[in-house]
Amino acid sequence: MERYPLITIDKNKLANNARAAIELTARKGIIPVAITKLFQGDPQIAQVLVDQGIKSLGDSRIQNLIKLQDIDAEKILIRLPMLSEIDLLVEYADISLNSEFDTIRAISEYCVAHGKSHKIVLMLDMGDRREGILEEDLDDMIERIITLKGIQLVGLGVNFGCYGGIIPSPEAMKRFGEYKNYLEQKYGLTLTHMSGGNSLTLHMIWENILPEGSTHLRLGQSINIGVEDRYGGVIDGFEGNAYMLHAEVIEKKRKSSVPVGQIGVDAFGNVPVFENRGDIDRVIVGIGKQDMYFDALTPVDEGVRIIGGSSDHMILDITDAKRDFKVGDILSFEMGYSSVLMGLNSDYVYKKLID
Ligand SMILES: *Cc1c(COP(=O)(O)O)cnc(C)c1O
Repeated sequence: MERYPLITIDKNKLANNARAAIELTARKGIIPVAITKLFQGDPQIAQVLVDQGIKSLGDSRIQNLIKLQDIDAEKILIRLPMLSEIDLLVEYADISLNSEFDTIRAISEYCVAHGKSHKIVLMLDMGDRREGILEEDLDDMIERIITLKGIQLVGLGVNFGCYGGIIPSPEAMKRFGEYKNYLEQKYGLTLTHMSGGNSLTLHMIWENILPEGSTHLRLGQSINIGVEDRYGGVIDGFEGNAYMLHAEVIEKKRKSSVPVGQIGVDAFGNVPVFENRGDIDRVIVGIGKQDMYFDALTPVDEGVRIIGGSSDHMILDITDAKRDFKVGDILSFEMGYSSVLMGLNSDYVYKKLID
């Protein structure tokens, strides 16, 4: 018997997206790094991507890279390493994104002490104001890094969109690309990993406005759910909805749309507001805000609308639905990025890889 709530993960859609990412980035000679944090570094899912030709995997959590240790691909820690995890970093990641000299020096010292090596990508902050050194500090930092033993500086990285919502500009990406030649000539480096951003850089490839210089892109949402944030929709050649939520009806009743009595606060301390639509047909499904980000869900059934819920319940208005629901029926939902992230992280949601 199938158990619910359930997230199904469509292997064929993920495989299609891995191929689409490889093809699109190849137009610019770029290698896609598949980002695995959305699915907590599940090795079975990562293998689907690697089977299509993905050669590099990135995750923000070292715990996830540890799960991926038996997968044959380069592994990159894409969140700046903590001083407290350097032993794990050197053991389980080939490369890490860095912005602090103290951390890079600690990695160097660990490598020297244990006869190991580790590759460093130096993050530049070109406007989004999350991680990275400022461009004016680049030379200074490089001069200090190249004195260190046990580590190898293999490139620069940049990130856009995630904190500041900044879209990469052709000007910024041109400067980013030019640093490759500049640093290679000035310091005799070979920069094989110019990590030019995330899914938000992809549109610059299909619009043919991406300047030379990037060798890698770190692709999370595009490979997983087929989307990017510049234009919003599913990217040409990619598939949306590789991840679908299915939840089971545990109550179906006709009730007034407005609760009865004096309104205080809801389960999350907010004062709820209700539109009076008279009596409505509603169902409750067995999933709650503890497991799922409701706002990024779209019910597949026509005429069905999420009207609210609590930690353990989701309530839907089915008055206008074409389908006739009863207890035990399954409702399916398309999932946006934040709902996939939250749902896969919940121990109360079953997960199943499907063909
Ligand atoms: C999550 C993450 C990505 C992937 O971003 P998408 O927008 O999902 O492609 C890339 N780089 C870093 C540093 C990240 O943390």
